Formats: sequence, C-alpha cells, structure tokens
Amino acid sequence: MIDKQKNLPNRRRGRQTEPKALEEVRTLLGDAPRESELLIEHLHRLQDRFGGLRNVHLTALAQELGLAPVEVFEVAGFYHHFDLLRDSEEPTVLTVRVCDSLSCSLSGAEPLAQELEARFGERVRVQRVSCVGRCASAPVAVVGANPLERATTEVVEAAVEARETHCPIPSPVDYRTYCARGGYGHLRKLQQNDSPDAVEGLIATLERADLRGLGGAGFPAGRKWRVVRSFPGPRLMAVNIDEGEPGTFKDRHHLERGPHRLLEGMLIAARAVEAQAVYIYLRDEYAGCRSMLAAELAALAADPPGPIPPVHLRRGAGAYVCGEESAMLESIEGRRGLPRGRPPYVAQRGLFGRPTLVHNLETLYWIPEILERGSDHFLAMGRNGRKGLRTFSVSGRVRRPGVYRAPAGIAARELIEEYCGGMQEGHRFKAYLPGGASGGILPAELGHLPLDFDTLTEQGCFLGSAALIVLSDRDSVRGATLNALSFFARESCGQCTPCRAGTVRAVELLQQPGCERALLEDLCEVMAEASICGLGQAAANPLRCLLRYFPQELE
Ligand code: SF4
Repeated sequence: MIDKQKNLPNRRRGRQTEPKALEEVRTLLGDAPRESELLIEHLHRLQDRFGGLRNVHLTALAQELGLAPVEVFEVAGFYHHFDLLRDSEEPTVLTVRVCDSLSCSLSGAEPLAQELEARFGERVRVQRVSCVGRCASAPVAVVGANPLERATTEVVEAAVEARETHCPIPSPVDYRTYCARGGYGHLRKLQQNDSPDAVEGLIATLERADLRGLGGAGFPAGRKWRVVRSFPGPRLMAVNIDEGEPGTFKDRHHLERGPHRLLEGMLIAARAVEAQAVYIYLRDEYAGCRSMLAAELAALAADPPGPIPPVHLRRGAGAYVCGEESAMLESIEGRRGLPRGRPPYVAQRGLFGRPTLVHNLETLYWIPEILERGSDHFLAMGRNGRKGLRTFSVSGRVRRPGVYRAPAGIAARELIEEYCGGMQEGHRFKAYLPGGASGGILPAELGHLPLDFDTLTEQGCFLGSAALIVLSDRDSVRGATLNALSFFARESCGQCTPCRAGTVRAVELLQQPGCERALLEDLCEVMAEASICGLGQAAANPLRCLLRYFPQELE
C-alpha cells in the first residue's frame, strides 16, 4: 500500500509568511496594538512606508494580527486607496488623482486627465477618482496627498516635478484659544450635573430647535439620544466625517476652521448617552485635517475639561459606501465597508455589538450654538415655512461656489442669487441637484422649492447632505445623470445584485444613443425597491428625474 501521507510533499498549504517580511512588519508596527480592529490603520502604515501593499507584507500582517490571510487580502482589496502590488512589482513612483465627479467634470476634469496622461506617460500614474471634497474649486487634482484646486496641467506638473505631495495642514481655532473664548463651558455644565433630568432638559432643547441628523437622513438628534439611552450599556459613539457625496464639502469647511466646536458637541452627546468611547471616522482624502485633528485631540486629552471618554481617530481608505452608518462601523472594526442588514439598528447593536450613537459632524457642530443662543434663536432662522439653519455646499455654474450658512428652507434660486452672486457669466440656470449625486435633479422651474428635509419627496428628490450642484443651459442633464450613475457603479460595494448590476446596466444604457425608457424605468424600480442600503436605493433618483423632467434629453 502506498502511504499517502509519506508521499505527500512536506509543505504547508496556502501562502507562507516570509521571515524578512514579518520582520519588516514587526519593525513598522513597533509597539502598536495588534487588535484586528486596527487592520485598516496598519494597512495604511504599510502603504505609506512601502508605497503599496505587497502580498508578502499582507501575509505577515495577517500572522501578526492573528487573522487568516484571506481576511487581510479582502480588506486590502476593497478600498480604493490601497494599491495592491505583486511582490516583484515596484511601487508606482507617484499617483495623481483627478476627481471626475460632477462639479469637477463640469470644469474640465476629463480633458485635464487626458492631458496629464499624455504629458506624464508611464512616469506618473493618473487615476480618475470619485469626489475629493473640494468642489468649490473644481477641477481638483491630488498629487500624492496634495490637493491642487482649480488645477491646470501646468500646476500639476510643477507639483509633480517639485515632489509636493503633502496636504497642507489647516490652522484652525486651537484648543487653548477655544477654551479662552469660553469653549467647553456647556460640556463642563453637563459634567457637573448629568442627572436624568439635566440630560432630559438638554434633549428637550435640541428637540425644540428641531436639530436633525445632517449627514443626510435627517433623523431627529434628540430622539436618537433617547433611543440609544434606552438600551443597556456599555454604549459607544461614532462620528461620521466620511463626506463622500459628490458636491459635499461642508464638514471639511467646519473642521478646518474650528474642530473644537465639533468636539464639544461630540463630548456633550457622548456624555448624554454615557458613551464609554468615541470613534471619529475621517475620510482619507482629508489628510491635512487628520494631522490637525490628531494634534487637537492630543491637546484635549492632555488637559481635558473634566473627565472625557477616550477618543479614537480612524482613517478611511476611499470608499463612498462607508458614509452609510453601518458600513462605517464595519470599517472602524477593521473590515470591508459592507452595509449591514437591519434590524437590529445601530442604536441597539452597533460598533462592536454595543448600542451606538452615530452622528455626522454637522449635527454635532450645531449643538454648542443651540445651547449658547437657545432654541428660539435657532428656530427664528428658517425661511419659506421651515425652521433652523443649515450649511449648504454649493458648486457648479455659480459665480461664488462655497459653503454657506443659510436658513433651512431657502430655495435654490434664492441661494444662488443671495449667496453665490448669481450664475456665472454666460450661463443660464437650467437645473440643480439638491442633495449631491443621490438627491435627484430638478429643473430650474422648480428652483423656488424650499430646501429642507421632507420638502422634495413629491418631486422624487431629497436634500441629503445639502450639496447643491447647479447646472446651466450649457450642460446636459443626461450627461450629469451618467456621471452620477458612473459614480454609483464605481462605489457600489457589490453586496446586492440590484445595485451592483443595476448601476452598471444604467450606465451602459445611458451611453447608448436614444433611450430604452421602459428598461430604465424598470431598472429604477428594482434598484430603489430591492437594494440593501441607501446607495443602491438612491442611485435611481437622478435617473428617475431625467425621465420625469428632461425627457427631451433622452431622444
Ligand atoms: Fe452594497 Fe449597493 Fe447593496 Fe448598498 S445597495 S449593500 S452599496 S451593493
């Protein structure tokens, strides 16, 4: 008989760890914790050090973190910002990312990308990427981590030649200055008295001010606190600064100017729900903000205004879907950003299985001001029957694109005329996207509608992150729709077929001449009804609007 065991070669199955690679990984990680939740952080370290992710390092990292290699490879392969290299492959010398989302596309992103490709050849990798959050200064190209606003071929070339690859670090109102101006006073007040009555009073103030979740969903903030508090602890909190919705850059605007206003709002919320730790998830594109925020968090931790929970700053890796709250939690836990099925909702079982309060930056930004000025002041600010204030990111064909603090309920036409200096020379207002790529597209004739939650539903749209992108008579709405659907196709996590296949099919149909109207309508219905998360459900919105308001562009 043949002894099969003896005849088998003496080899372990699967990828083996190479001692040299393991040593490199160990040296790089130093005494950093080896918890699997830090996988994405460690992948960033590897990539920053070696210019890409090699198989040998991924295998070694898996061993070091006690994970199966497949777990590490699937995470590394999921996020756009990780470059997987073959072991023999040299890392790309330099990458220039050209944003091709709508606002940049309107400002000539594609010709810019083509010129850069022709000029650099193999020397530099030119990538077309989704929105990088600087739409007011389109087109934007990012050299390494250095964002170049109103980019031209010459400007990009100069940065490449000079190896200017670092993102400038903003200089906001720092911790000491914020405190000297009375900052963290409302947190201190809560620390002195956080009895159930005091917390209830705080929640009532936020409710009177009608503070809503300003990441896009608009869920009342106070009610969310109550729900989270109703589940037994320990509880956690997560802050979403992953603004990837094309046309949205308000969170970066607020962060660059005053991070402590956000942090005070965050710590007030954390105290109110008795969160034992807070996780801030910041998009990778905001590298300068990350350095600044890390320094300000260190200053806060060194001399805190009373006892505060530990605050962890986590770095995204270029995946729009991680703006969806459950996908963000998956990413914070070191996994692929795949949205979770519901129920259970994250308020009940969120981060690491604990009840979790999730807020977008802007929601927290308003809290100190509401407490300072009172809910009545806030309520008096609305317009067209709505209440409160919002920050709008405005881009596209207006004279002065930017972030504007304006009354909730202001109409697009009012925003353009009163805040943005009107339309650009030679452009006539034709259409607008009220909520970035996912909020739909409305004709200028509906430019009088109040921009707020619950106001655009009848029109098949929503405000979302309040990212207004303005189109003119020189623009094609069909082209804008194709741009939005291409974005969704690129960013779909692929977990469910209606979204994964539907977005790709919609792009194919829109690229063909003419229009298969019935097929497009069918696609919209399937995506909206059968997708797991908001990405796939909302991907149909621009397409539906194209069919409803701009049928002439489908001929
Ligand atoms: Fe992923 Fe799209 Fe399904 Fe959301 S809808 S889970 S992004 S495939």
